[in-house]
Amino acid sequence: MPLAEFDIIQNCFASQAIQHDDVKLGIGDDAAVLATPAGKELVIAIDTLVAGVHFPHQTPAQDIAYKALAVNLSDLAAMGASPAWFTLALTLPESNEQWLYDFSSGLFELANRFHLPLVGGDTTRGPLTVTVQIAGYVAPGKALTRSGAMPGDAICVTGTLGDGAAGLKKFQQQNIAEKNSVLLNKLFRPEPRIAAGRLLSAKASACIDISDGLYADLNHMMQQSGTGARLALECLPLSEEFSEFIEDESEQWSLALCGGDDYELCFCVPPEMLEALSTAMNTINCRMTKIGEVEQAAEIRIFKGEQEIDNDRIKTGYQHFQQQDDVV
Ligand code: ADP
Ligand code: MG
Repeated sequence: MPLAEFDIIQNCFASQAIQHDDVKLGIGDDAAVLATPAGKELVIAIDTLVAGVHFPHQTPAQDIAYKALAVNLSDLAAMGASPAWFTLALTLPESNEQWLYDFSSGLFELANRFHLPLVGGDTTRGPLTVTVQIAGYVAPGKALTRSGAMPGDAICVTGTLGDGAAGLKKFQQQNIAEKNSVLLNKLFRPEPRIAAGRLLSAKASACIDISDGLYADLNHMMQQSGTGARLALECLPLSEEFSEFIEDESEQWSLALCGGDDYELCFCVPPEMLEALSTAMNTINCRMTKIGEVEQAAEIRIFKGEQEIDNDRIKTGYQHFQQQDDVV
């Protein structure tokens, strides 16, 4: 049954929003009013997911909502920020009641975990598009940026690589959101690395979240730092499910390096900090792997053992993957 705009906002979003002292005025007025804590800097991110571009059309509504919030949380994680509140702009082709309830349940499942209030938004009609804007806080001057890497720093990643891309491949083959699949879970419900980002804010020299593939995002971080990198292919952390599903070795490294949708953090850290950081990451149950080193020369060199791999081979893998991505 179709719901009117007011009912959508009331039933699916306003009634479920988490109460928070900082929210002086939430959903229902012309704008939200928020108290910002003294002595903090505000960190803002926004990300849009378009049906057929950023997620397959058949994606369950819960997962679309979950992912829209998760990718924004991931941007805050990469800045070392603590999330504070978010807004939601939702464009819908029709107001299907069941779809909206499912959407709102996926959204608040994740929002509740981070005690994150939804403070406003917009609801319009059109092709399915979900925009989430998120705000968080950091101590003054403590935001983690892409630009502080120094030659000699270790390059590390959280979690495992390539699972999101392998998940997309699996979904395209099966066309259903199989439950309990690590790979599909990674694709639709990436875990935002908020706690890891907070740990890193005191220790890392640079950080980025991996949304477009390690190679592309590391490249951004290196360019903004004015540095280059040397990566060890055999050090890239792969999950068991990934290695079982993707059997061909060159496809494995192509997805791990160039596949999108991992939402892990890639960061640089002075070598003397590595051990303490790795112990701290253990305490929050976050896997962390050193995959290379920052170098002076502004290029990314990839090694398999002692042998340097031709970067064009990697880009071929990337383009091949992009073509697959286009058909979702
Ligand atoms: P206006 O026309 O003044 O922009 P709207 O009718 O668009 O007001 O919105 C009314 C209230 O509902 C506002 O507080 C707005 O922030 C909130 N709102 C609208 N859509 C959403 C949504 N999808 N999620 C959360 N809040 C929403
Ligand atoms: Mg409006």
